[in-house]
Amino acid sequence: MDAIERLATLFEKFPGIGPRQAGRFVHYLLRSSPAIRQELARSITALGNQVKQCSECRRYHDGDSALCNRCSSTTRDRAILMIVATDADADAIERSHTYNGTYFILGGTIALGNEKNPRIREADLVKCIEKRSNELREIILALPANVEGDTTSSRVHELLRPLIKDGQVFVSSLGRGLSTGAELEYADPDTIKNALKNRA
Ligand SMILES: [Zn+2]
Repeated sequence: MDAIERLATLFEKFPGIGPRQAGRFVHYLLRSSPAIRQELARSITALGNQVKQCSECRRYHDGDSALCNRCSSTTRDRAILMIVATDADADAIERSHTYNGTYFILGGTIALGNEKNPRIREADLVKCIEKRSNELREIILALPANVEGDTTSSRVHELLRPLIKDGQVFVSSLGRGLSTGAELEYADPDTIKNALKNRA
C-alpha cells in the first residue's frame, strides 16, 4: 500500500467518512503546504501525549491535573450529576449556560444487540457514584432520544438502583422537548433549557 492509500484508509475509519471523502482529505493535504501537514501531525501526536481523561467525569482534557476544570471547580453544584453519552453532549449543555452541576461521560450508548457487551464506562460510573454518594442529591440522565439512548438509560437505571438509597437521590431524565431522534450535540440552547426544565 502506498502512502496515499495508507492515509486514505485511515481517514475512512473516521465516523461518517466514506472512501470518496477520505480521498478528498488526502488530496487536500497533498496540495497543502508542508507547514500544515506538520501542524496536523504534531496535533495528532499531542492528543496522545497531552490529553488525558478526567479521573472523575472521564472527559478528555488537556491539563496537568487528574481532574478537569469542571470537576475541580468550586462554583459548581456538586449535589447534581448529569450523565451524558459523549464529551460533545456535555459541551452542548455547557454552551446553553443553563446547567451548573457536574457530569459523568459514558463514552457512548449501547447499540441494539450489544446489551450483553455494552461499551460504556459502567465500572467508572459505579465508582463515581459510590465515591460521591454523600454529596449527590440528583442524577439527571441526558441520553439521546432514540432506541440506543433508551437501552442505555435502562442499563444506567439498573446500575444506579443498588447504589442509591430511596429518597436520598432523585433520578430524573431530560424532558423530551428535544424532537424525536434529535441529538443533544446539535440542540440549540433554548431546547436544552426546556429539556432541563421539563426533566422528570
Ligand atoms: Zn471532570
